[in-house]
Amino acid sequence: MEKEYITIISGGHFEKNVLRVISEDIIREFHYPVIQQVYSFDLSCYYHPGRRQYDANGILKEVLEISPPDSIKSIGLFRVDLFIPILTYIFGQAFLDGNTGIASLFRLKNELYGLEQNNPLLIDRFRKVIIHELGHTFGLIHCPYPNCVMRSSTYVEDLDQKKNCFCKNCREELNRKRGLELMTGR
Ligand SMILES: [Zn+2]
Ligand SMILES: [Zn+2]
Repeated sequence: MEKEYITIISGGHFEKNVLRVISEDIIREFHYPVIQQVYSFDLSCYYHPGRRQYDANGILKEVLEISPPDSIKSIGLFRVDLFIPILTYIFGQAFLDGNTGIASLFRLKNELYGLEQNNPLLIDRFRKVIIHELGHTFGLIHCPYPNCVMRSSTYVEDLDQKKNCFCKNCREELNRKRGLELMTGR
């Protein structure tokens, strides 16, 4: 069967209007229809008591396992503090040229950096992380262009600098890769 949609898998509570804008972003940037699913993960098995954080690699693998087989890409959305062994924290993670990515709101909150809570800004940041991680699943690597969503982001300020869309080069690269995917039937 032709893989024709991208799946958003909510692994935490997200408001309907937030999921709607995320779906619209994905449709606009990737030109695939979007399906939304809710899945109750048992995240306790990914909890690292020493770090008081959650193992992103383990969660990413579970998202891959539960992804609908006829979905071209899946992105898992979370609210917990994610880590990988070599980094203090991460905003998201994806299999490069794979099928799955994850993103978390946790480290995107102003309050974490001693600033005032700002919900619209929080959601803006989250949307950029989601498009960025999905970009990786389509094989895109980090981009040097400052405004491009594929620019790597270590701090929330880096996220605030970039736009929630691909630069011309990344867009062309994405189209080229998608053309290849169509030709090879992947
Ligand atoms: Zn990245
Ligand atoms: Zn770019």
